[in-house]
Amino acid sequence: MKARVEVICIGPDGSEQRQGVLAIERQELAMETLGMSLAEGKILLQGVQDFVVAQQVSQDLEQRRVCVHCGQRHTSKDNGNTPVKTLFGPMDVPNPRWNRCACQTDGPKTFRPTTAWLKGRTSPEMLYLETNWASLIPFAKVVGLLKQVLPVGDSLNPETVRSHVQATAERIEQELGEERQLNLFEGVEEDWEQQPLPDGPITVGIDGGYVRAAHKQGWFEVIAGKSVVAFRRAEEGEVSSAKCFGFVQTYDQKPRRRLWELMKSQGMQENQQVVFMSDGGETVRRMQEYLHPFSEHLIDWFHITMRLTVLQQQTKALQEERPQIGGAVSKQVESVKNLLWHGNVEAALERLGNLIMDLDLIRAHSAAAEKVAGAMAEFETYIHNNQEFIPNFGERYRQGETISTAFVESTVNQVVSRRFVKKQQMLWTLRGAHLLLQTRTKVLNNELDEVFRRWYPQFRVKTA
Ligand SMILES: [Zn+2]
Repeated sequence: MKARVEVICIGPDGSEQRQGVLAIERQELAMETLGMSLAEGKILLQGVQDFVVAQQVSQDLEQRRVCVHCGQRHTSKDNGNTPVKTLFGPMDVPNPRWNRCACQTDGPKTFRPTTAWLKGRTSPEMLYLETNWASLIPFAKVVGLLKQVLPVGDSLNPETVRSHVQATAERIEQELGEERQLNLFEGVEEDWEQQPLPDGPITVGIDGGYVRAAHKQGWFEVIAGKSVVAFRRAEEGEVSSAKCFGFVQTYDQKPRRRLWELMKSQGMQENQQVVFMSDGGETVRRMQEYLHPFSEHLIDWFHITMRLTVLQQQTKALQEERPQIGGAVSKQVESVKNLLWHGNVEAALERLGNLIMDLDLIRAHSAAAEKVAGAMAEFETYIHNNQEFIPNFGERYRQGETISTAFVESTVNQVVSRRFVKKQQMLWTLRGAHLLLQTRTKVLNNELDEVFRRWYPQFRVKTA
């Protein structure tokens, strides 16, 4: 059998324009000859796209051809085409230049009638898909997948996708308000008391990860985290209760604004309880300060236990070398953990100090003791620097309050690792990593559609 596909475009006056876009011929029926092949599907899509685009543009030009003031037709200055990339093929959009009408005396002598609608050289659908996929998988893979299933054109390459995604991210970044060093909230405390009862406490977990820098610059840190609203009073709220974020701190000019906007989008109120949890790094702590009038800043219990576990492991070599001393040290480390759990920081620091002194007596003769003493001193400094952020974890725990954001560890993996460090050879610039983090978190938070609809109101309009 034979089949032909024809497109019919119907103009506003009812006139029809037809164009054949695909002819298929089948002999023997088999599973692989049932229906259309992928190649035919691509031809079909591109054929329809070509014809519909041509008809749309020519109708639009026809409507604009007449001067709105006197009804005379504009005369041509020159013809031209503008390439526009779409998911169904690269299109050459007619883009003529016309002379200003003789009835007008002001303004430029010529103009392009397409400026009313022709914004950019890539269709929003294409930008969206490139951004969405490239936020999850490498640029080259995006190109491979697109080419495999859609007639996107041979010229699409990883560099194009990268620049499109970066342009999208830059646009998202431009929408972010100004950074402020002090309170980002408007109003005063009395106003906030009038606010409705807020949703459950917001817990923000912040942690860092490392990605490899381009140009042999070693590694640099990226910050990632998650903001979680414990519960919502109106349960059917459209706002997701957990959102992740990420940025490159040495590149980002607005980390505080970024986090604040994210929490605002979760419905954060000034009278809401907010708890920030981190491993106590300097930058992270500075960012949280003043971000919310009633926020608490805590060291994540998870980070303390992680460090203590490492410390315990280091005492093992000492225990093998000197069972008695090693065993005693190990017990002391366990008791330090217990003291910290109860927020008894001073006692913990004292015990650590004593331990370091004891180890000092033997470290000259024992490599194992030397190693434990070094690690112990490091841990002591860490606790000392962060002592004001160590609460009584035990009490918080009993009261059902958050003591740990171990989930942040997996968030960091989710936000950073899979896309950024999976392969050792993936190298990033500060800007490149930061921008990709912005689109990636939008994708992970299911917010990319919303962003595109804001820019292109007719983009994927929801139909009931
Ligand atoms: Zn005119």
